[in-house]
Amino acid sequence: MSDPTPGYRGIGKSTLDRFDVSVWSEVEVKTGNGGFKGIILPRSETADDRHIVLKLSTGYNVGVAADSITGITAHGRREANYKIPEKEFPFDAGKSNITLFGTGGTIASRLDYRTGAVIPAFSPGELYGSVPELADICNLTTEKLFGVFSENMGPEQYIRLAQRIGETIAEGVDGIVIGHGTDTMHHTAAILSFMVQDSPVPIVMVGSQRSSDRPSSDAAINLIAAVKAAAQSDIAEVSVCMFGPTSDQYCLLHRGTRVRKMHSSYRSTFRTIGDVPLATINPEKIDYLRDDYKRRRDDRNVKINPAFEEKVTILYYYPNMTPDIVDAIVDKGYRGIVIAGTGLGHVNKPLYPALDRAAAKGVHIYMTVQTLWGYVQMYVYETGREIMGLGVVPAANMLPEVAFMKLSWALGQTDDRDEVRRIMLTPVVDETTEREPYNGYLIFQGEIPEVQAFLRTIKR
Ligand code: ASP
Repeated sequence: MSDPTPGYRGIGKSTLDRFDVSVWSEVEVKTGNGGFKGIILPRSETADDRHIVLKLSTGYNVGVAADSITGITAHGRREANYKIPEKEFPFDAGKSNITLFGTGGTIASRLDYRTGAVIPAFSPGELYGSVPELADICNLTTEKLFGVFSENMGPEQYIRLAQRIGETIAEGVDGIVIGHGTDTMHHTAAILSFMVQDSPVPIVMVGSQRSSDRPSSDAAINLIAAVKAAAQSDIAEVSVCMFGPTSDQYCLLHRGTRVRKMHSSYRSTFRTIGDVPLATINPEKIDYLRDDYKRRRDDRNVKINPAFEEKVTILYYYPNMTPDIVDAIVDKGYRGIVIAGTGLGHVNKPLYPALDRAAAKGVHIYMTVQTLWGYVQMYVYETGREIMGLGVVPAANMLPEVAFMKLSWALGQTDDRDEVRRIMLTPVVDETTEREPYNGYLIFQGEIPEVQAFLRTIKR
């Protein structure tokens, strides 16, 4: 995705060699199940190497399994033009200076219309060429840190991001935007909320569900809103700015520790869980939905603490889970387990001895809930009390992924039982809250805007 250099590795490459064709050849491919006519596209860095990808004349791309190909005949060659029209990003001394870090994901790329190849669009000039509205908001500097789909993000990237954020803040930037794949954006938002504390400026994560070549793309609207939040909002926290309701009326700004991707394909996929979002943002204005956020400041006193223990896991409980799973985790040397339990925070009785053994071996175990909304309440049923008696600590209403990130961060700093517990149960930025607002479940979470507008008229 990030490397547009034509070329194939592994099986794909040997297939092209075998039939004496190359990337950009116009070909007819024969397989046991029929044939395809199209242009051979370069394979992205992250695609598998068992297929070759053809752009068909219909405009669709198709992957053909290399081992099913019986023949390829070339008729010509049609190379893509990679150049996105670059325009110089204007500088205006009166505007905020924003740094956009690229990590990859759909937001960092667009398709070439002619061939369907994925092209990175990332320099300020390229972004200005495709989303000129950005220049009305800020002066933009871009820095590509990684070019990965977000399932490939991990501690190495989290630590590098945290460090670059710290350095960029020290250099005097007014706001930071992080382009990121949507799939694990909430994981990265959570860990950055712990690794980067007391930022004087907004740190806004953004992505897109649909790439910018598609008419229904959310890339431009999300980017404009995220850049606006970074440049003009007063919210100096790690947040996620993504498509709000099903129509494209506004984006929602979510707190980094309370946000989750909730739909695999809708653009309106990110939701604040257990709370209300921070703000709605459209190109014209920012509407704050709450006032308990950390304010923008002029100082540069950010704290960067990039600690991370990799031997932490999430155990998603299911009925009839057997204790060997817990034993295996312990025997493999894991130091922390976040359980996503049923209901108020439960697992079945056969697991108790294994949890007891894990705790006795010094493994730190925290309970969260699969329902996502609501609290772990382990005093209600005897089951809950017994599980706590085994040394499992209830993590209030911390989301399972957030608890996972926080435990990894805590264990990266200490193995002391009480200290880990203190870190886990002392909220940094609302990863646990005293109560969940009755309206958080519904309000501003993607209802149909027309219905919301109607409800406002009759509520008066
Ligand atoms: N799989 C992609 C990712 O998370 C999807 C996206 O960018 O939205 O990186």
